[in-house]
Formats: sequence, structure tokens, C-alpha cells
Amino acid sequence: MASDARLALLPGDGIGPEIGAAAVALLERLGGVEIVEHPIGGASIDAHGTALTDEVLDACREADAVLLCAVGGPKWDTTDPGAPRPEQGLLGLRKGMGLFANLRPVRPSDALLDASPLKRDRIEGTDLLVVRELTGGIYFGDSGRDGDRAHDDCAYTVEEVERIARVAFNAAATRPGADAGGAKVTSVDKANVLETSRLWRETVEAVAADEFGEIPLEHLLVDNAAMQLVSRPADFDVILTENLFGDILSDEAAMLTGSLGMLPSASLGGEGPGLFEPVHGSAPDVAGTGIANPLATFLSVAMMLRYGLERHADAGRVERAVDTVLEAGLRTPDLTGGDGVREVGTDEMTKAVLEAL
Ligand code: NAD
Repeated sequence: MASDARLALLPGDGIGPEIGAAAVALLERLGGVEIVEHPIGGASIDAHGTALTDEVLDACREADAVLLCAVGGPKWDTTDPGAPRPEQGLLGLRKGMGLFANLRPVRPSDALLDASPLKRDRIEGTDLLVVRELTGGIYFGDSGRDGDRAHDDCAYTVEEVERIARVAFNAAATRPGADAGGAKVTSVDKANVLETSRLWRETVEAVAADEFGEIPLEHLLVDNAAMQLVSRPADFDVILTENLFGDILSDEAAMLTGSLGMLPSASLGGEGPGLFEPVHGSAPDVAGTGIANPLATFLSVAMMLRYGLERHADAGRVERAVDTVLEAGLRTPDLTGGDGVREVGTDEMTKAVLEAL
């Protein structure tokens, strides 16, 4: 039998340890994972005076996958630029692990379609994945001020575009419908104006032609993409885009699901393990009350199984179990109510998902 995958679990702060415990229960049920917990964020500041120790970073690099719950809270809020801050742990981890690809799936559950600000008939059938380049472009270019002028330079290399394009095409190849040539990649740029976008488009075309000829590819200008995302979201499969456009479009797309407590994400690098985490924060306002929604973390576990551990069938099982409990009417208080729903806490939601598995 294959040995267990090594998972570095970083519960962090606020509701982090509560949803982390729920994730452990789920992973123990699924089996095949050896879990080692490490402090990060405020918990690490309290224990070691820094949000991420070298030992924890090394342990994460050596693991097969990293699951982070949430960091931060009022206890560590400070305006002192010299004081350690919980989010330095997360940023240090992304940088230290070379995580250049951010994946954010948007798949509104049928049971929550009316929780979206968009009409049900617009979002029904939406199941898309935003693949955002995370370590290049305008956020990492030279920037500065000169008198009354400021600048932020945007630069991309062919290599940076190639590696993120491969992540998107590989993701498309393993999505439902891919066998029938159904899952397409939509590359979003501003090639009518920006030179970096023309390099982007050329490079994505070349990667597609050389390595992924079977996967349909289309290009959209970013302004058009922003519009199409709310007018026909169900027509997208994988959206591949650069750092700034991806930052904006992924938040726009996330709102289709209507709830922060439902959104998972993955950050992947070239060779090392991936980092999987719910999109939400540490929710200090509900920490310790037993009502934290564990579903974004469960869906992050599903992403870990799919993209980090190659356990595609188990990833689908977890996603279907989450759908099942929502269809049965179970809701943590952060999810909007409605007819026939029943409010539950973290423990009952977790038990229900384990049973649905
Ligand atoms: P938040 O996401 O923690 O909370 C926003 C609102 O959503 C709150 O009312 C909260 O109760 C609710 N919420 C979020 N997730 C929930 C869940 N799983 N179950 C139930 N309710 C949930 O954002 P915030 O309040 O702006 O930030 C709180 C702290 O989290 C801050 O210290 C912030 O820096 C940190 N933060 C961390 C991350 C991260 O770890 N990746 C991300 C965002 C914010």
C-alpha cells in the first residue's frame, strides 16, 4: 500500500483552529493522510515572536500539501511598522514556497442559487475556475514616485506566462467534461493596448499548440471578460489571466456564489507542494461560538485532493457531500436562510458532511 501523504496543517487564529479540527475529522474519514500541525500568524507570534518561523516554512516545503485555515485578529492589530503581523505568515509562505498560481473555483451550489446577487437563471450551471498568475506583473514590477508623478511597471517573461498557462491547461484537462473536449480555457488579456498582453497571448497560443492541442482555447479582452462574467458565467470553464486582472475578476466571480463562507482556493508552485486555504479570514466575531462554517475549508480539502494529491475521485466525493448537506437544508448562520432550512453549528455541519461522504 502507498504510504500516507504528509499534510502540514496550519490552523492559525480565530475560527482557524475550529475549522481546522473539522478538516482533521474529514481527512481522518478519507484516510491516506498523515497530519502534522504547525503554528502560523498570531499563534506563531505568541509562541515565537514571528508570524512564520524558518522551521515551519521548512516543514511546509517538505510536506506533500499545506492546508491553512486563517490568520489574524484584533489581538495582533498594530500600526507599529516594526511589530510582527499575522498576515506576514501567509505572505512569507507564498513567497517562500514559490506559489505562482492561484486557483479559485466558482461553483454556486444549487441549494444556494438564491443567495447570489445575480438572478438564478444567470448563474445556474456555473462551474468555473479562475487561474491567476500570482508572482509577476504590475504588483511585482518597479514602482515609485518622482515629484507629482508615480509609476508601477508591468512586466512578464515568456517563462512566467508559460508556467501559468500550463497550470490552466492541466486544470482544464482534468475538469468534468474535459473528455468530450468540453472544458475550454479562456485567456484574458488587454492585447489591443498592452505589450505585456501581446506577449501573454502569443505565449499562451504557443503553449496550447505545442502541448495541449486537444483543449479549446479562446481569448477575451479583460473589459469584455468582466461583462461576460456576470452576463453568461455558465459559459466559462477555466479563466487564465495575469495578476492584476485575476485579482479583480476572481473577486467579481466569487460574488456569484453569494457567500464568503463557501469559497476555497489553492496556490500552486512549480515543484513544491501546494497551499490550500479558504478565502475567508479568521472571523474573530464568531470565533469560539461554535458556528463557524467549515464548508470553505472542506472545499479547500477537495482542491488539495485534486490538485495536490491526485485523488480526483475523493475530491469529487467531498464536493458532492457538501452539496448533499446544503440540499438537505443544513445552514450555518452565515448562509442565508429560506424555507425548509435548519440552522446548525460547526460540529453538526461536519458530522452531516461525514455522513454524506
Ligand atoms: P473575515 O473573512 O474573517 O470575516 C468577514 C465576515 O464573514 C465576518 O462577519 C465573519 O464572521 C464572516 N465569516 C467569514 N468566514 C466565516 C465562516 N467560515 N463562518 C462563519 N462566518 C464567517 O474578514 P475580516 O473580518 O475582514 O477579517 C478578520 C481577520 O481575518 C483580520 O485579522 C484579517 O486580517 C484576517 N484575514 C485573514 C485572511 C486569511 O487568513 N487568508 C483573509 C482575510 C482576512
